[in-house]
Amino acid sequence: MIGQQDIQIPFARVGGTEVNYYLICQKKLWLFSHGIQMERHSDRVDLGRLLHEESYPRGRHKEMMIDGLLRIDFDESSGTIHEIKLSKAFEEAHVYQLYYYLYYLKGLGLEGLKGELNYPKSKRVERVTLTPEIEAELEEMIAHIRAIKQSETCPEVEHKPKCRKCSYEELCWG
Ligand code: SF4
Repeated sequence: MIGQQDIQIPFARVGGTEVNYYLICQKKLWLFSHGIQMERHSDRVDLGRLLHEESYPRGRHKEMMIDGLLRIDFDESSGTIHEIKLSKAFEEAHVYQLYYYLYYLKGLGLEGLKGELNYPKSKRVERVTLTPEIEAELEEMIAHIRAIKQSETCPEVEHKPKCRKCSYEELCWG
């Protein structure tokens, strides 16, 4: 479980996006965590923001920043954290990002929250609940993410089909 001390050590601070990127590509995680961020220039991100604004009923959802690290959408009335995604590609990464939010908030004493992944384009909803098994998986994952973030060298990876949709493609392979 994440403690206050962890929160104050820079490499120990793990954001939800980093959990997501870890499951997509370890090189992407390393680049992102070393301050090389391409997503803010991506059309897909602009589309994601637009979908986000159009998907939530005004007034029910609050966007909250937790510890200056996690930006979450919280529906207080149902105790649900929502995460909007454009497509189900990389669904495992989306699910674990949401598990991580639930895990982190549990560490802050907020137990029993629910998670919901929303795919507005396909009108799909996936519900996510934290279990002890998932928490154990997350703890291993977080240790590995921290090791990658601390590493001075970028992980070597092969070109994969997913690189064609990645905002870092030109940097990695251009
Ligand atoms: S382009 Fe490919 S190798 Fe580079 S960060 Fe993206 S997914 Fe990883």
